[in-house]
Amino acid sequence: MFKMKKPKKAFRVITQFPHCDPRILHAPGECEYCDKHWEWQALREAWGIAFTGYTPEGKELPDPATHARGFDNLNTWEGNKATVVGLPCSSN
Ligand SMILES: [Zn+2]
Repeated sequence: MFKMKKPKKAFRVITQFPHCDPRILHAPGECEYCDKHWEWQALREAWGIAFTGYTPEGKELPDPATHARGFDNLNTWEGNKATVVGLPCSSN
């Protein structure tokens, strides 16, 4: 049986996401902004959730952003692209 009530919102403690779409999280070493949230990257790996742009392997769950919007669609907004150090936006 599942719980029927939604949990309290966590936005009171999460003040900023690395990208405009909070579901986007790039793999370690691929994005300057996401690398600043190394604990979130570690949680994704621990929970078995694919990083943005990756196809899930085995029992891994899909990246929520890619699953909801498709990789090409989520990259149409510059603020959601992986950003390399020294460049405003990469062409990844
Ligand atoms: Zn990123």
